[in-house]
Amino acid sequence: LSQRIETDGPDDEMKELTVTFNSMIDRLENSFQRQNQFISDASHELRTPISVIQGYANLINRWGKSDPDILQESIDSILSETEHMSALIRKLLFLAKGDQNRMLVQKKVVSLNEVAGEIVRELEVLEVHRQILFEGKDKAEVWADPDLLKQLLWIYAENALKYTKEGGVITIRVWKDKKNAFVSVGDDGVGITQEHLPRIFDRFYRVDPSRNKGISGTGLGLSIAKWIIDSHLGQIFVESKAGEGTTFINQFPLTGKPKKEAPKKDSQ
Ligand code: ADP
Repeated sequence: LSQRIETDGPDDEMKELTVTFNSMIDRLENSFQRQNQFISDASHELRTPISVIQGYANLINRWGKSDPDILQESIDSILSETEHMSALIRKLLFLAKGDQNRMLVQKKVVSLNEVAGEIVRELEVLEVHRQILFEGKDKAEVWADPDLLKQLLWIYAENALKYTKEGGVITIRVWKDKKNAFVSVGDDGVGITQEHLPRIFDRFYRVDPSRNKGISGTGLGLSIAKWIIDSHLGQIFVESKAGEGTTFINQFPLTGKPKKEAPKKDSQ
């Protein structure tokens, strides 16, 4: 793939063809490189929990039979690592399916308010020790897959929980303008510094792993969010300030045509 065609002949058509051919090869090469990077990052991420599980299994083998504390601690760690691994594999499969256009996206008319309301109720039931605020007066209907929509909002909600302290505030808002519907999930947590913002949607990207110490994550959540939004012809905007909080705003085209404004009556 490193080969390129060169031409300096006078034939314009040939030159144009060469440029098109070379740019196609460039795109193919980029896509291969991205796939290779994805596979090597994924393997690296899977290797860590496997080594940890192996370590604890060895510990049980040596000491666990005679020491119930070591046995319990090892079992707990193995269970938590396997949980982390299955979450990682689920996310990898999602992205692989998405890349290959094998994801079933079943769209229908969905009320953003209802989906957002469901997330709010679920957060309340889970007693997450955060204040959950919900503002959704505008009835906003979009053409969407309700399961994917819910998955999208859960990604933000889980992050909001991970990156805020107990007692923090999570705000979910739904609104619309003439063309678009919006749903945002905001928090008053650690925030993200400007330099990291452009990269947070990259696969496996995590802001400063030492700051996130103890917070489990894969760096894949937001890349899945981006895939979901792209598959709904929407856009994501992020507002964030270090130490103050983060808000993810998601824009979707409204279903149907925007209503024509009623003609203004002449005031007399
Ligand atoms: P992760 O599994 O690490 O949370 P994501 O792809 O969901 O992966 O997010 C990527 C990174 O963006 C996170 O590691 C975190 O540093 C940052 N991030 C995402 N959401 C928030 C948030 N609400 N507040 C602060 N940082 C966040």
